[in-house]
Amino acid sequence: MSELGSIRESIIQLCNKFPNKYWRELEKTKGYPDEFVKVLSAEGFLSVLIPENFGGAGLGLEAAGIILEEISRSGGHPGAFHAQMYTMGTILNHGSEQQKQNYLPAIAEGKLRLQAFGVTEPAAGTDTTSISTFAERKGEKYIINGQKVWISRVEHSDLLLLLARTTPKDQIKHKTDGLSVFLVDIREAVDSGLTIRPVETMVNHHTTELFFDNLEIPKEALIGNEGEGFKYILDGMNAERILIAYECIGDAKFFIEQSSSYATEREVFGRAIAKNQGIQFPIARCYVQMRSAELMTQLAAKKFDAGEPCGEEANMAKLLASETSWEAGDTCLQTYGGLGMAKEYDIERKFRETRLYRIAPISTNLILSYIGEHVLGMPRSF
Ligand SMILES: Cc1cc2nc3c(=O)[nH]c(=O)nc-3n(C[C@H](O)[C@H](O)[C@H](O)COP(=O)(O)OP(=O)(O)OC[C@H]3O[C@@H](n4cnc5c(N)ncnc54)[C@H](O)[C@@H]3O)c2cc1C
Repeated sequence: MSELGSIRESIIQLCNKFPNKYWRELEKTKGYPDEFVKVLSAEGFLSVLIPENFGGAGLGLEAAGIILEEISRSGGHPGAFHAQMYTMGTILNHGSEQQKQNYLPAIAEGKLRLQAFGVTEPAAGTDTTSISTFAERKGEKYIINGQKVWISRVEHSDLLLLLARTTPKDQIKHKTDGLSVFLVDIREAVDSGLTIRPVETMVNHHTTELFFDNLEIPKEALIGNEGEGFKYILDGMNAERILIAYECIGDAKFFIEQSSSYATEREVFGRAIAKNQGIQFPIARCYVQMRSAELMTQLAAKKFDAGEPCGEEANMAKLLASETSWEAGDTCLQTYGGLGMAKEYDIERKFRETRLYRIAPISTNLILSYIGEHVLGMPRSF
């Protein structure tokens, strides 16, 4: 069996130990999948992207994607912990040797959690270069003031990768200048300038608002060069889009498998509902769409792993996969009829969970605008 094949087999076996009831119960109590994340870390799945010399497996995005896909496909919700994978590139590609030594081995061992990524702000929204959270350099420290919103998993992470402004907006030449990335130690920051306020959402996503009030962090928390942070965050976005696409493919497979087996078993009017083409064809169509999204996702990951430019493919994969998982979820609900609404079948939960990905981490409109402008050369609209 190939290496990727055996990773797939192992993660399927791990997921079998955490049935849908586990995820359903967590949602009821707004709980965090501590037990699942513990096993995932102990078995090395969360550190596949960390190089071997820092204690990880040194594998590529294809391997990471397969892990997230199979967790989704099993009925789980990788949104609770996926950030550890897609934030990794920022430290790997732009962190100093000292930062890598300090953090990566502990993250690989599961002793340190890097699960939070702080970019979005209430006023700026999608327009990231308009963020105003400010990190002011004072001697050996940076002092941070501002506010973030929708920052997920902060309460379940030790470290936060934070994007903040280091040069006022009216003093920069280009709108992407003057932003910097910091690795903030959440354990030290809480109650010393950082306040975390949970936001209730339609999914169990552990997302929060963050308030920074004169938070002091050491100058060593800066990743790479001051003022170049936007570029570093952009670098990581292709990885994030590809990994989210893999999750959506997993969701679509979950829905298609549930739909086809339920439609084959369920008898109404004395025959399986799947014998009605009004039920069978929408499921078949979802399969066709899922396979094409899957091929685009795999192509994007292969190009990423080969170090080739992959912005076009990463964006298209995210768009296709998030739309196919939504369509497959809707079809699955229709196939189940009333039972689709019953919580014990997990269809409605997964339907809500996969809906997020047409909005975050980047919305469908913004992907279309990337394709229109950067791939097709049409005029910029904003
Ligand atoms: C559950 C959840 C978890 C999240 N986790 C994180 C996290 O961990 N870290 C983090 O930094 N962020 C996180 N986000 C934020 C997420 O990335 C943003 O919600 C997303 O980027 C959209 O930004 P917004 O909500 O401010 O929408 P807005 O920017 O207000 O946009 C609203 C709508 O208008 C559309 N729109 C805006 N401008 C244009 C335009 N020029 N042309 C066409 N359409 C346009 C958008 O596509 C969107 O559909 C999370 C969000 C959610 C809901």
